[in-house]
Amino acid sequence: MITTKDLYAGYENKLILKGLDLQLMPENLSVLAGPNGAGKSTLLFALLGFLRPQKGEINLFGKPLARYTRPELAKLIAFVPQESFFQFDYSVFDIVMMGRYPYLGFMQSWSPEDKEIVTKLLDNLSLRDMKDRLYSSLSGGEKQRVLIARALAQQTRYIFLDESLSELDINHQVEIIQLLRNINREQGIGILLVSHNLNLAANYADELVFLKDGKLLGCGKPEEMMNPGMLKELFGLELSTHPHPQSGTPNLIYPAPTV
Ligand code: ADP
Ligand code: MG
Repeated sequence: MITTKDLYAGYENKLILKGLDLQLMPENLSVLAGPNGAGKSTLLFALLGFLRPQKGEINLFGKPLARYTRPELAKLIAFVPQESFFQFDYSVFDIVMMGRYPYLGFMQSWSPEDKEIVTKLLDNLSLRDMKDRLYSSLSGGEKQRVLIARALAQQTRYIFLDESLSELDINHQVEIIQLLRNINREQGIGILLVSHNLNLAANYADELVFLKDGKLLGCGKPEEMMNPGMLKELFGLELSTHPHPQSGTPNLIYPAPTV
């Protein structure tokens, strides 16, 4: 379990996260949402140990985050950054193999076990046929699957993803969030996904975490979070909600034009 207590974090002289109390359970698929600049990526960076808190605590399985070494952390949390983050151009196989770095000893090369883990993942995520393709030649949905395969190769307890759905069309958004849900349900890996697609989140997530101006607006089941009052607080917009025809989960309806 990951917990934060009165967490303050930010950059240089700029405080972004202001007193967050949060719990992330490994059995949940959680979606972190909120306006641009709310501090969502900053929160991921703090939980990943990239940013040192200015105040407050982060605990990982009962132990302060600061007491873990970098390789220990890399075996507990994998990170899928925003797509634009990537400059490299390696083959699909090599990128997924990078997930095994935390398990590599000093001056060691890949073991047959590493190669077997990666080959199996490529099969499971239907990436086998493109294992020699360059990352830059892939479509958006394929890129996300490669990055998720790399995160899975890391064999962690949590996977954090920053806006992995943002550049995908609707069918690939559904494909990727369903894949994340399968991973969560079948392997018990906790998922924390930053997304602006609140309707997909409402339908697939166990929990929605709403962040605004570096503060936690609320956190709970989609049924509790997806209501006009909460959405108004989050985005400053009058939005209505309507039950999903199959599941009954509240989905948001965009406003009608005013003229
Ligand atoms: P979100 O992911 O919710 O859109 P971010 O966490 O990226 O928001 O950013 C929160 C605030 O922190 C923004 O005002 C942004 O400009 C600022 N910020 C982000 N990264 C840095 C940085 N490296 N140095 C200084 N300020 C930053
Ligand atoms: Mg961000």
